[in-house]
Amino acid sequence: MKPLAFAVALAALGDTHALPPALQCALNSAAFEALPPPGPNDWLANHPEKGQTFDEFVRSQPNRPTAQRRTIYLQPLGTFELGPLKEFTEAFFMMPVVVRAPLDLTSAKITSRKNPYSGQQQLLTTDILAFLRRQLPSDAFCMLGITMIDLYPDPSWNFVFGQATLRDRVGVYSFARYEGQMRRNCKVVAHETSHMFGIEHCIYFRCVLNGSNHLAESDARPMHLCPVDLRKLQWSVGFDVLERYRRLRDVCRHAGFADEAQWYEREIERCAKS
Ligand SMILES: [Zn+2]
Ligand SMILES: [Zn+2]
Repeated sequence: MKPLAFAVALAALGDTHALPPALQCALNSAAFEALPPPGPNDWLANHPEKGQTFDEFVRSQPNRPTAQRRTIYLQPLGTFELGPLKEFTEAFFMMPVVVRAPLDLTSAKITSRKNPYSGQQQLLTTDILAFLRRQLPSDAFCMLGITMIDLYPDPSWNFVFGQATLRDRVGVYSFARYEGQMRRNCKVVAHETSHMFGIEHCIYFRCVLNGSNHLAESDARPMHLCPVDLRKLQWSVGFDVLERYRRLRDVCRHAGFADEAQWYEREIERCAKS
């Protein structure tokens, strides 16, 4: 990492010396890669963002799981295979995950359009988010809608992979551009659900929270959190970081994400002695 980028990333992580040794070890790893400067079509070149440090995150008073609200709901909007999505989400957030019975959007009066360039049918995310808010169970930390239909957040946009609120506990994402590709789906679920913990896009490292403008950029994201965002999620949920890494390793192995399973295994070995 270049010295300036390194100093910025270190400042974003905040003061970690009072944290448990295993967590300090996990946060202080050479396995995290710097985020290279954006190309002209990449997210940060088109949506300049200033990043969210750990301290800024805490000061924003984000939603945290409570005894009353601690379940993550996945809400299929239609019928399709979810593969390892439930197990992955459970391990990623270390919280109970419930997959609800599929809901049909046809009666929900969701605004739709044909994309002006591709002619593809698209649904307006803000209408879906309002619909999901009305369905939110009383014990939900958050609820993520999943659809097979492509999405757009605003008439001026071409499309969006997904959208989630930082405060309102609802999000939605689409399988349309990722059909049958579970690695991509798991990444988007991790990304959109993390937003509902108040975690904003990551500009510091290669991270599952990097913004994404196109498929190649989505694919360049790893499935794991960088240290800044790992610290945020750990602060919010309070899990044991090595227990989380072991569960993610097992889920990734089982799902056939061999490189990610290996990444977790190396980090577990490195920090288990700490
Ligand atoms: Zn995002
Ligand atoms: Zn990050």
